[in-house]
Amino acid sequence: MEPGCATIRGTILGFFVIGFSYQHLWFQKNTAKKADVVATSGEIRQSHRCVNCDAVSIVPFPRI
Ligand SMILES: [Zn+2]
Repeated sequence: MEPGCATIRGTILGFFVIGFSYQHLWFQKNTAKKADVVATSGEIRQSHRCVNCDAVSIVPFPRI
């Protein structure tokens, strides 16, 4: 696991094509200059939640 920041935000293209509600989940490692999309707007991903600290991990492929 690598530390970083998760944000929910859209893109300029998505804003003009679909609107403000079209936003993605992004993750940027502390050592990176650019964020990557973790999940796109409305996408359902497999995930896990820690019962001790509520940390959530998201699997990088769609739910089966
Ligand atoms: Zn935990």
